Amino acid sequence: MSYKILLPQEIMKEGREYLESRGYELINGSGMEEQDIIRDIPDCDGIIVRLSKMTDAVFTAAKNLKVVARHGAGYDTVDLESAKRHGVVVLNAPVANSMSVAELAMFYMLYCSRNFKRVENYMLEDYYYAKLKTPKVELDGKTLGIIGVGNIGSRVAKKALHGFNMKVIAYDPYKTQADMPEGVELTSDFDHIFEASDFVTLHCPATPETMDFVGKRQFSLMKKNAYFINTARGKVVDEPALYEALSDHLIAGAGVDVLKEEPFNSKNPIFALDNIVIGPHIGAATKEATDRASLHSAIGIDEVLSGKKPSWPVPGFEGEE
Ligand code: NAD
Repeated sequence: MSYKILLPQEIMKEGREYLESRGYELINGSGMEEQDIIRDIPDCDGIIVRLSKMTDAVFTAAKNLKVVARHGAGYDTVDLESAKRHGVVVLNAPVANSMSVAELAMFYMLYCSRNFKRVENYMLEDYYYAKLKTPKVELDGKTLGIIGVGNIGSRVAKKALHGFNMKVIAYDPYKTQADMPEGVELTSDFDHIFEASDFVTLHCPATPETMDFVGKRQFSLMKKNAYFINTARGKVVDEPALYEALSDHLIAGAGVDVLKEEPFNSKNPIFALDNIVIGPHIGAATKEATDRASLHSAIGIDEVLSGKKPSWPVPGFEGEE
C-alpha cells in the first residue's frame, strides 16, 4: 500500500512528479483551513503545507501522520511542541528561496542608489529635475553592512563583493569569521555596522531577541547618505523609528519588502514618503523559488518515509528518522 501525502494547496509539478514517480499517492485537500485539514488528514502519512496552519487539533486528528514539510523557510505556522508529542518529523525548505531573496536585496539597493522612487515620481512633471537634480550614487566601492549571515545574507555578501565591488562587513553573533564568505569582515560591534555602512541590509530571523532590533539608536548612528534595506521581517524593525529617520532625513532612504502589518494597511503613513520603496513581501515569490520549495518539500517527505536522514529538518527534529 502506498503512502498518502495530503496537499491542502497545490504544489508545483517539480514536487508532484518527484513524489508520484516514487509511488506516493497525492491527495488534493478539500481546503486549507483547519477544519478542512482535520477532515482530510486522518489516514495520511505526510503533508506539505503552504499557508495552512498545523495546530494541535490537526496533529491530534492525524493518526497516521509521520512527516510535515513546510513549503518554504518559515515554520512558525507549525505547532512544533505538538508535532514532537505526536512523533511527527517537521521539515522546511530553508534554501529554496535564498537566491531569490538575495537578488531582491540587491534590487532594493540598486533602486535606492538611483533614488528611483523620486525619479519615477518626478520624471513626467519635471524631466530634468528627475534626471539631474535627484542625488544618485553607485554601489561600487561602498560599504555594505549585513546583519545575519545565513543562507540569504551569505548570498548577498557574495553578490555585493564579486558583482558590485563593495566592501562587506557583517554582524552575526552565532557565526565565526571562519563561517563568513571570503572577503567579509565579521564584527561583534553592532553599532559599527550602522556607523560604517553606506547600505545596511537585514537578514536575521524574527526572534524574541531581534524584536525591534533596529530602532532610533541605530538610525541615528547611520550616515545621512546611507540606505537601510529590510527583506527579513517587519518585526525586526521599530517602524515608527524608521518613519522618523526617513521623514527627518537622518538617512537617505530605505527599501523594504516587509512591514509589521501584512497585508499592508494603506493608512500607514510610511506609504506617503518618497524616500522609501516598499514591496509586498515578494522575496520568495519567484517561479524558481516556488518550484524549488515544492521539490525540496517532496525530497524531504520521501527521505523521512523511506527511512533516510532528512536534508532539511527544522531545528529540534534532526535526530528523527
Ligand atoms: P538563516 O537561518 O539561514 O540565517 C539567519 C542568520 O541570522 C543566521 O546566520 C543567524 O546566526 C543570524 N542571526 C540570528 N540571530 C541574530 C541576531 N540577533 N543578530 C544577527 N544575526 C542573527 O535564515 P535565512 O534563510 O537567511 O533568512 C533570513 C531572514 O530572511 C529571515 O528573517 C527570514 O524570515 C527572511 N526571509 C524573507 C523572505 C521574503 O520574502 N522577504 C523570504 C525568506 C526569508
